[in-house]
Amino acid sequence: MNLAKNLRMKNLSIISHKIALYQDTPRGHPECPERYEAIKNRIDGDYKNWIRVQAPCATRKQLLRVHTEAFLNYIDEIVSGSSKPIGLDPDTWAGKSGVEAALRGAGGACLAVDQVMKTEEGASFSAMRPPGHHAEPDKAMGFCVYSSAAVAARHAQKNWGLERVAVLDFDVHHGNGTQACFWDDPSLFYASSHQMPLFPGTGEMSETGVGNNIVNLPLPPGAIGKDILEGWKNYLLPSVLDFKPNLVIISAGFDAHKDDPLGGLKMTTEDFGTLTKLILEMAHKNADFTRSCRIVSILEGGYNLTALADSVACHLDTLESFKV
Ligand SMILES: [Zn+2]
Repeated sequence: MNLAKNLRMKNLSIISHKIALYQDTPRGHPECPERYEAIKNRIDGDYKNWIRVQAPCATRKQLLRVHTEAFLNYIDEIVSGSSKPIGLDPDTWAGKSGVEAALRGAGGACLAVDQVMKTEEGASFSAMRPPGHHAEPDKAMGFCVYSSAAVAARHAQKNWGLERVAVLDFDVHHGNGTQACFWDDPSLFYASSHQMPLFPGTGEMSETGVGNNIVNLPLPPGAIGKDILEGWKNYLLPSVLDFKPNLVIISAGFDAHKDDPLGGLKMTTEDFGTLTKLILEMAHKNADFTRSCRIVSILEGGYNLTALADSVACHLDTLESFKV
């Protein structure tokens, strides 16, 4: 087998669940069921090479690898004690349906890991909402209840014995939650491009974790795709390659799109395809070390419905068509 010279993603899956169609945020909230509906309308009936898999709920054991028991109990108590969604902070809501969606978001991310581990070359995309990368071990925030990417990374280590897992995050917001979960563990790596200043306020270049396992690239409002792509090509991706991950998890937020209402970065739909290609080229080089090329991609943000659906389609097209 010469994986590095014959790479093509053969094992493709999309993970979803209809619970993401339930409204558990207030009307007018940007993190809404219509996001999921827009993606489903765009990809259903197409993408025939991708198998469809239902997102399961994450187990308590999976969540406890990242979150504190007190936090999990707190969320359980809120859900069992109220018939209506409760505001956990001004942006983040927890009700019965919303928490089940978040549980299936984290469980779907773990299932995506299981899917790609079936072969040496595979990609799996979880279309679940709400996002997860702002949720810290003991705190829900920024629309996020459970830290799905971090839960999936730990699942890959514990269930599949992978040594090193990297999360690559191109959401317009910094993934403070993933960073907090990875901060003192050199077997985990977090690379992020994001707008600064912007919520949540973290993500300075000086935030480097232990042994430089955190790499942040803050960008000023108005930065265009070329700036962001060059940042990934020249700074973030070489750092990921040095880490030699056994698995790459993408925190795929599409709110750095120029039409997004929450961010001020200016990526085009096509830029997301180019960035996906750059990540795949890095993963191809990395296959020289690891003899595998496995990509898990988890939906994070993206709040202009048309831009979101188009960008997800461009992301999937690139994952499917990439070959060397
Ligand atoms: Zn975001």
